[in-house]
Amino acid sequence: AAKINSNEAVLYDPALDKASQQNLSLLSELRRALECNEFKMFVQPKLRIDTGEFIGLEALVRWEHPEKGMIYPDQFIPFSEQTGFIRALTRWMLEQSAMLCRDLTAYGINAKISVNLSTRDLLDQNLPAKFSAMLARYAVSASSFCLEITESSIMDDPVRALLTLDGLHAMGVDLSIDDFGTGYSSLAYLKRLPVDELKIDQSFVMNMESDIEDAKIVRSTIDLGHNMGLRVVAEGIESEAVWWLLAKMGCDQGQGYFMSRPMPAAQLIGWIAQWVPPRMK
Ligand code: C2E
Ligand code: CA
Ligand code: CA
Ligand code: CA
Repeated sequence: AAKINSNEAVLYDPALDKASQQNLSLLSELRRALECNEFKMFVQPKLRIDTGEFIGLEALVRWEHPEKGMIYPDQFIPFSEQTGFIRALTRWMLEQSAMLCRDLTAYGINAKISVNLSTRDLLDQNLPAKFSAMLARYAVSASSFCLEITESSIMDDPVRALLTLDGLHAMGVDLSIDDFGTGYSSLAYLKRLPVDELKIDQSFVMNMESDIEDAKIVRSTIDLGHNMGLRVVAEGIESEAVWWLLAKMGCDQGQGYFMSRPMPAAQLIGWIAQWVPPRMK
């Protein structure tokens, strides 16, 4: 193994394989991007399915790279989680969402803002206090926020994750289980976690008008969620046919390309003004 004498030596160690060198430069690129404001918060509207009314949004991060153009989260979220950079990114997203909440309130718009958390965030015991301070700074209420977690993000260290989640929930923040149905131990966690919302994974929703098995899974998940006293959200609604199927099944909320793709936060107010819910024919 190569000898490492200083931090400097790590960067220039010829024994370091190409992949780790690329990783080191990606991490410094991410840090630079955060400093230079290259991350952008996009938002995707969430609608009530019975009335079609706008009720909230999911905040989704994008990286607008000066040379490479728009970079999607799949390209940097997993790496950000591995390196712990995600904590800084999550705080940035939470701060942006608090600012958006303040701005929407000024326009008289009441919206529940959903933000994604990852494993590392759940292990961060300071997160509830940090978020609470942020909410106070922008004079917005915790009840305007929903934090989305996945089952696998809890699995790493369930005891610590539960402490963080309890802290957040005690503040009055809603919790949502994202990508429901794709992880494992779904039902055990549903019972133990302080959750308010269940999000059916888009893989079951997208083709449910043609795939009978998918439709059955969606229907059962809606019933399960309702029986547990949770609101149920379908993501990945790409057609009007799926919207009406979900309406018939009593699904509470939906988001998807049929209503809107994620857009820069600045476009949201304009989108709300022109939104016309689908009508029964
Ligand atoms: P997710 O949380 O499951 O978010 C939903 C993803 O589905 C988003 O992709 C969204 O653009 C996409 N989507 C929404 N409606 C439709 C539809 O009708 N059809 C299809 N095909 N796709 C739809 P996006 O923005 O590329 O994000 C991908 C994933 O990256 C997210 O999945 C989430 O796990 C992660 N992510 C995004 N932003 C953040 C963030 O700020 N923090 C963390 N920790 N993860 C994030
Ligand atoms: Ca999500
Ligand atoms: Ca999801
Ligand atoms: Ca997903």
